[in-house]
Amino acid sequence: MWGDPAEACAPEEARAWEDLVTTARRTVSEGLVVGTSGNVSVRVGDTVLVTPSGVPYDRLEPDDITGVDPDGRQVLGTLVPTSELPMHLAVYATTDARAVVHTHAVHATAVSTLVSELPLIHYMAAALGGPVRVAPYATYGTDELAENMLRALADRSGCLLQNHGTITYGTSLDQAYDRTAQLEWMCRLWLTATSVPGRSPTLLTREQLAEVEERLRGYGQRR
Ligand SMILES: [Zn+2]
Repeated sequence: MWGDPAEACAPEEARAWEDLVTTARRTVSEGLVVGTSGNVSVRVGDTVLVTPSGVPYDRLEPDDITGVDPDGRQVLGTLVPTSELPMHLAVYATTDARAVVHTHAVHATAVSTLVSELPLIHYMAAALGGPVRVAPYATYGTDELAENMLRALADRSGCLLQNHGTITYGTSLDQAYDRTAQLEWMCRLWLTATSVPGRSPTLLTREQLAEVEERLRGYGQRR
Protein backbone atom coordinates (compact mmCIF):
# COMPACT_ATOMS: atom_id res chain seq x y z
CA MET A 1 0.00 0.00 0.00
CA TRP A 2 3.03 2.29 0.27
CA GLY A 3 3.21 3.17 -3.44
CA ASP A 4 3.95 6.61 -4.72
CA PRO A 5 4.85 9.07 -2.00
CA ALA A 6 2.34 11.81 -1.35
CA GLU A 7 2.70 14.74 -3.67
CA ALA A 8 4.30 17.95 -2.40
CA CYS A 9 6.40 16.25 0.24
CA ALA A 10 10.10 15.40 0.04
CA PRO A 11 11.21 11.75 -0.28
CA GLU A 12 12.71 11.79 3.22
CA GLU A 13 9.41 13.13 4.57
CA ALA A 14 7.50 10.31 2.82
CA ARG A 15 9.90 7.73 4.33
CA ALA A 16 9.63 9.29 7.78
CA TRP A 17 5.83 9.26 7.51
CA GLU A 18 5.90 5.54 6.69
CA ASP A 19 8.08 4.92 9.77
CA LEU A 20 5.78 7.10 11.90
CA VAL A 21 2.68 5.15 10.84
CA THR A 22 4.49 1.85 11.55
CA THR A 23 5.40 3.08 15.05
CA ALA A 24 1.88 4.38 15.71
CA ARG A 25 0.42 1.01 14.72
CA ARG A 26 2.92 -0.73 17.03
CA THR A 27 1.64 1.28 20.01
CA VAL A 28 -1.80 -0.26 19.35
CA SER A 29 -0.71 -3.82 18.42
CA GLU A 30 1.57 -4.06 21.49
CA GLY A 31 -1.13 -2.81 23.85
CA LEU A 32 0.27 0.61 24.77
CA VAL A 33 -2.62 2.47 23.17
CA VAL A 34 -6.34 1.72 22.78
CA GLY A 35 -7.97 3.25 19.69
CA THR A 36 -6.43 6.63 18.88
CA SER A 37 -5.62 7.63 22.46
CA GLY A 38 -1.95 8.33 21.83
CA ASN A 39 0.18 10.12 19.29
CA VAL A 40 3.57 9.95 17.62
CA SER A 41 5.75 12.55 15.93
CA VAL A 42 9.08 12.66 14.12
CA ARG A 43 11.18 15.65 13.08
CA VAL A 44 12.56 15.95 9.54
CA GLY A 45 14.57 19.15 9.21
CA ASP A 46 12.28 21.97 10.33
CA THR A 47 9.12 19.96 9.81
CA VAL A 48 7.44 17.89 12.53
CA LEU A 49 5.36 15.03 11.10
CA VAL A 50 2.61 14.10 13.54
CA THR A 51 -0.33 11.70 13.75
CA PRO A 52 -3.61 13.43 12.85
CA SER A 53 -6.42 13.77 15.36
CA GLY A 54 -8.98 10.97 15.57
CA VAL A 55 -7.92 8.80 12.60
CA PRO A 56 -7.35 5.09 13.44
CA TYR A 57 -3.72 4.24 12.65
CA ASP A 58 -4.63 1.28 10.43
CA ARG A 59 -6.44 3.71 8.11
CA LEU A 60 -3.51 6.09 7.64
CA GLU A 61 -2.20 6.21 4.08
CA PRO A 62 0.81 7.91 2.46
CA ASP A 63 -1.46 10.77 1.31
CA ASP A 64 -2.48 11.45 4.91
CA ILE A 65 0.95 12.88 5.73
CA THR A 66 0.47 15.64 8.30
CA GLY A 67 3.23 18.10 9.16
CA VAL A 68 3.69 21.36 11.06
CA ASP A 69 6.49 23.89 11.44
CA PRO A 70 8.16 24.48 14.85
CA ASP A 71 5.40 27.01 15.71
CA GLY A 72 2.65 24.52 14.95
CA ARG A 73 1.53 26.00 11.62
CA GLN A 74 0.44 23.24 9.23
CA VAL A 75 2.84 22.85 6.29
CA LEU A 76 1.84 19.37 5.04
CA GLY A 77 -1.57 17.74 4.55
CA THR A 78 -5.13 18.72 5.36
CA LEU A 79 -5.97 16.47 8.34
CA VAL A 80 -6.06 18.21 11.73
CA PRO A 81 -2.86 17.44 13.72
CA THR A 82 -3.15 15.72 17.11
CA SER A 83 -4.62 17.86 19.87
CA GLU A 84 -1.50 17.04 21.94
CA LEU A 85 0.71 19.05 19.56
CA PRO A 86 1.88 21.54 22.25
CA MET A 87 3.64 18.73 24.17
CA HIS A 88 5.41 17.44 21.05
CA LEU A 89 6.56 20.91 19.95
CA ALA A 90 7.77 21.75 23.47
CA VAL A 91 10.00 18.65 23.46
CA TYR A 92 11.52 19.53 20.06
CA ALA A 93 12.06 23.15 21.11
CA THR A 94 14.03 22.24 24.25
CA THR A 95 15.83 18.94 23.53
CA ASP A 96 17.72 17.17 20.74
CA ALA A 97 14.71 14.86 20.17
CA ARG A 98 14.07 13.50 16.68
CA ALA A 99 10.96 11.53 17.70
CA VAL A 100 8.30 11.67 20.44
CA VAL A 101 5.86 8.97 21.56
CA HIS A 102 2.84 9.71 23.80
CA THR A 103 0.53 6.96 25.11
CA HIS A 104 -2.14 6.28 27.73
CA ALA A 105 -0.50 2.92 28.61
CA VAL A 106 -2.50 1.40 31.44
CA HIS A 107 0.16 0.51 34.05
CA ALA A 108 2.04 3.77 33.58
CA THR A 109 -1.17 5.78 33.81
CA ALA A 110 -2.16 3.87 36.96
CA VAL A 111 1.20 4.70 38.57
CA SER A 112 0.75 8.38 37.60
CA THR A 113 -2.25 8.51 39.97
CA LEU A 114 -0.34 7.06 42.95
CA VAL A 115 3.06 8.78 43.23
CA SER A 116 4.94 11.91 42.16
CA GLU A 117 7.94 9.85 41.04
CA LEU A 118 8.21 6.19 40.02
CA PRO A 119 10.09 4.48 42.89
CA LEU A 120 13.46 2.97 41.89
CA ILE A 121 12.14 -0.54 41.39
CA HIS A 122 14.57 -1.40 38.56
CA TYR A 123 17.90 -0.17 37.24
CA MET A 124 16.45 0.43 33.76
CA ALA A 125 15.35 3.81 35.12
CA ALA A 126 18.93 4.80 34.26
CA ALA A 127 18.10 4.36 30.56
CA LEU A 128 15.57 7.18 30.94
CA GLY A 129 18.08 9.43 32.71
CA GLY A 130 17.11 8.65 36.32
CA PRO A 131 14.01 8.30 38.51
CA VAL A 132 10.96 8.97 36.33
CA ARG A 133 8.92 11.98 37.50
CA VAL A 134 5.18 12.55 37.23
CA ALA A 135 4.11 15.86 35.66
CA PRO A 136 1.20 17.45 37.60
CA TYR A 137 -2.19 17.21 35.92
CA ALA A 138 -3.41 19.81 33.44
CA THR A 139 -6.05 19.60 30.68
CA TYR A 140 -4.84 17.77 27.56
CA GLY A 141 -3.66 19.89 24.66
CA THR A 142 -2.91 22.96 26.83
CA ASP A 143 0.32 24.92 27.16
CA GLU A 144 0.05 24.37 30.93
CA LEU A 145 0.36 20.62 30.43
CA ALA A 146 3.34 21.14 28.10
CA GLU A 147 5.03 23.31 30.76
CA ASN A 148 4.39 20.76 33.52
CA MET A 149 5.76 18.05 31.23
CA LEU A 150 8.96 19.99 30.47
CA ARG A 151 9.71 20.38 34.19
CA ALA A 152 9.24 16.64 34.74
CA LEU A 153 11.45 15.88 31.72
CA ALA A 154 14.48 17.87 32.97
CA ASP A 155 17.52 15.57 32.46
CA ARG A 156 15.20 12.70 31.52
CA SER A 157 14.07 11.21 28.21
CA GLY A 158 10.65 10.27 29.55
CA CYS A 159 8.07 11.09 32.21
CA LEU A 160 4.58 10.22 33.39
CA LEU A 161 1.65 12.64 33.05
CA GLN A 162 -0.63 12.54 36.09
CA ASN A 163 -4.00 10.85 35.39
CA HIS A 164 -3.11 10.89 31.69
CA GLY A 165 -0.22 8.75 30.41
CA THR A 166 3.40 8.70 29.24
CA ILE A 167 5.69 10.74 27.02
CA THR A 168 9.18 9.76 25.86
CA TYR A 169 11.56 11.00 23.21
CA GLY A 170 14.65 9.75 21.44
CA THR A 171 16.98 10.21 18.50
CA SER A 172 14.78 7.88 16.43
CA LEU A 173 11.21 6.57 16.42
CA ASP A 174 12.51 3.14 17.52
CA GLN A 175 14.34 4.64 20.50
CA ALA A 176 11.37 6.77 21.56
CA TYR A 177 9.09 3.74 21.24
CA ASP A 178 11.44 1.44 23.18
CA ARG A 179 11.64 3.98 26.00
CA THR A 180 7.84 4.03 26.26
CA ALA A 181 7.76 0.22 26.34
CA GLN A 182 10.46 0.15 29.07
CA LEU A 183 8.61 2.77 31.11
CA GLU A 184 5.33 0.88 30.90
CA TRP A 185 7.16 -2.34 31.86
CA MET A 186 8.77 -0.69 34.92
CA CYS A 187 5.40 0.69 36.04
CA ARG A 188 3.84 -2.77 35.67
CA LEU A 189 6.74 -4.24 37.66
CA TRP A 190 6.25 -1.74 40.50
CA LEU A 191 2.49 -2.32 40.61
CA THR A 192 3.07 -6.09 40.65
CA ALA A 193 5.63 -5.91 43.47
CA THR A 194 3.54 -3.54 45.59
CA SER A 195 0.41 -5.66 45.20
CA VAL A 196 1.70 -8.46 47.47
CA PRO A 197 -0.16 -8.09 50.80
CA GLY A 198 1.99 -7.35 53.84
CA ARG A 199 5.18 -6.90 51.86
CA SER A 200 6.82 -3.90 50.25
CA PRO A 201 9.49 -4.14 47.56
CA THR A 202 13.17 -3.30 48.08
CA LEU A 203 14.16 -0.21 46.11
CA LEU A 204 17.47 0.82 44.60
CA THR A 205 19.41 3.81 45.92
CA ARG A 206 20.44 6.81 43.80
CA GLU A 207 24.06 5.59 44.19
CA GLN A 208 23.17 2.18 42.74
CA LEU A 209 21.41 3.88 39.85
CA ALA A 210 24.38 6.16 39.23
CA GLU A 211 26.62 3.08 38.84
CA VAL A 212 24.27 1.75 36.17
CA GLU A 213 24.24 5.11 34.37
CA GLU A 214 28.04 4.89 34.27
CA ARG A 215 27.86 1.40 32.73
CA LEU A 216 25.19 2.37 30.20
CA ARG A 217 27.42 5.17 28.93
CA GLY A 218 29.92 2.52 27.81
CA TYR A 219 27.30 0.06 26.61
CA GLY A 220 27.81 -1.25 23.09
CA GLN A 221 31.32 0.20 22.85
CA ARG A 222 33.33 -2.71 24.23
CA ARG A 223 36.45 -3.54 22.25
ZN1 LIG B 1 -2.97 11.96 25.77
